[in-house]
Order: sequence, then structure tokens, then C-alpha cells
Amino acid sequence: MSDTESPGIDASIPPGGTGCLECEAGGGWWLHQRRCAQCSHIGCCDKSPSQHATAHARKTGHPVIRSFEPGEDWF
Ligand SMILES: [Zn+2]
Ligand SMILES: [Zn+2]
Repeated sequence: MSDTESPGIDASIPPGGTGCLECEAGGGWWLHQRRCAQCSHIGCCDKSPSQHATAHARKTGHPVIRSFEPGEDWF
């Protein structure tokens, strides 16, 4: 086991898997991802250009979104 590899992180994840779907669809990019605790929607964080997580929360009324970055605490 290499300590450069973290459980749950696979650098070879194919496109369309675990990223912000809206960013991927539009060819955009994101800094961090957040997952809606109610419907598991993956959206990008407020530091990302499109802020899809916030947009999702506003659009759906889902207030509970937590970090989707492995090992990253909520902040
Ligand atoms: Zn996005
Ligand atoms: Zn949701």
C-alpha cells in the first residue's frame, strides 16, 4: 500500500462519474464538490465559477449540503 493513495480516491475515475455533472456537461471546471444530503446531487462549491451546489439548493429547496471531498471537513 502506498501512502500516496487514499481510500475512495481513484485518479482514473472516468469523466461523467463523480464530478459536478452540470460543469462536465458544459465543459466547465470546479474547485470542490458538494453533495446534497437529501438527493445526492453533486454540485460545485461556492469557490467554483458556477456554484452549482448553491444553485441546486436554491432551485430545489434542499438546504443540507456537505462536502464531497474525501477527508475534507465542512467549512
Ligand atoms: Zn458545477
Ligand atoms: Zn438535493
